[in-house]
Amino acid sequence: MSVRRLEGKPLAERRKAALRDDVATLAKTGRAPRLVVVLATEDEAAVAYARAKQRAGKALGIDVEVVRFEHPTTEALVDKVDALGRDGSVDGILVEMPISPSIDLRAVQDAIPGAKDVDGAGTFALGSLFRGAAAFVPATAAAVMALLDAYDVEISGQHAVVVGRSLVVGRPLSQLLLARDATVTVCHSRTRDLAAMTKTADILCVAVGSPRFLSGSMVRPGAVVIDVGTTVVDGKLVGDIDFAAVAPVAGAVSPVPGGVGPLTTIMLLENVARAARLQRQEQAER
Ligand code: NAP
Repeated sequence: MSVRRLEGKPLAERRKAALRDDVATLAKTGRAPRLVVVLATEDEAAVAYARAKQRAGKALGIDVEVVRFEHPTTEALVDKVDALGRDGSVDGILVEMPISPSIDLRAVQDAIPGAKDVDGAGTFALGSLFRGAAAFVPATAAAVMALLDAYDVEISGQHAVVVGRSLVVGRPLSQLLLARDATVTVCHSRTRDLAAMTKTADILCVAVGSPRFLSGSMVRPGAVVIDVGTTVVDGKLVGDIDFAAVAPVAGAVSPVPGGVGPLTTIMLLENVARAARLQRQEQAER
């Protein structure tokens, strides 16, 4: 029997259609939602991610502006984010990653007001997520949940193993799974006998950033395996899962490309539209 492929593209197309309508309504009753991406790095991947957000925003009627810093300092970035936070024409703010380790990322992200932190990156947003009350959930973690839900994967009571504990993916994802009553194990580079852990997973989410890292022998037969990893190898996007080896063992696998990736930007832009709506409601109530 062939493995079930958890494709993100068709789901992303459906969500795009709904978001386009939502954005059109917002534009008719005021202006288009506006996201500002702070790009403070020359990193090629970050530049490409920022451009991809701009393209996706344009296709949906969302205004995505990229503010580029050639020689960033933490102070200059905090000042800029602070100003954007007070600018009534800005609905969402995001700091593009990866960013130089010389920058105090936490200080910059914490300067984003909660109402505009559409990537759920600041301490307040992450704390709210921990309480199960996040206004905006980090896009990649939200994309994984959307993919699981779209394919009716049962979450409650299942053992979910998340490999990777970054603030961007692994940790928020583990909280979202926990909030849906999964029993969650989080693994990382210091985990002893990783395969022993991954083999116990009903739902296995891998966000490591190491191409074809997860082999078939690390997967429990019938498990649902979600590949978050994206690394460019010889000009091609490669996931963390060795798809050819995992597919014969797993019950379902998300491919790379075409799984989580296509959903990530749409989840972010949905947050931008929601931020715009909430801020308008708040202004109207004042
Ligand atoms: P990251 O910050 O580098 O975190 C990687 C995590 O993997 C860390 O927690 C690290 O453990 C863990 N790890 C590294 N080697 C390991 C090993 N041998 N065994 C077990 N765990 C190991 O990366 P990230 O930002 O979370 O991103 C992870 C991947 O997802 C990357 O490929 C990235 O490009 C991709 N990504 C994709 C999307 C998308 O839209 N599809 C969005 C965001 C990220 P330690 O904490 O111990 O170092």
